[in-house]
Amino acid sequence: MFVTKIFTFDAAHQLTNYYGKCERVHGHTYKLEVTLEGDVHSNGMVIDFVLLKRIVKRQVLERLDHHFLNDVLKNPSAERLAVWIWDQLSDLSSHLKEELNDPNMAEEIKKLLEDEDADVDTSDLNKTLRLHEIVLWETPTSKVTYNG
Ligand SMILES: [Zn+2]
Repeated sequence: MFVTKIFTFDAAHQLTNYYGKCERVHGHTYKLEVTLEGDVHSNGMVIDFVLLKRIVKRQVLERLDHHFLNDVLKNPSAERLAVWIWDQLSDLSSHLKEELNDPNMAEEIKKLLEDEDADVDTSDLNKTLRLHEIVLWETPTSKVTYNG
């Protein structure tokens, strides 16, 4: 089953080694679609949308929204940005481990793992849940799709 959550963020960038209006600093409202693939657990979910939102917010949006993308990665074309976003998100089990610090989220993660132990092992999750696809819209008519 595939689960997708959609986000938007605003950022400025400037393309280097490029001749045209995009060589000047300008901004976009990017639309980001993050798709995970996984089994449906006994709670009826692949992953709680709230949990997916928190992970994307922490790992990606806080580092890109209202930032100058050239400070984050070199020559931030939509293609290069999609790969960067993939790299930030692909280790889902370690991101879930960070979310375990929040007691409310820890309960959700235990349900997801069907693991009632106090000491939750998120590494099991890599077997049943993975990042499937990043779709990044730079404008309403221009997008890139990356599958790792
Ligand atoms: Zn641009």
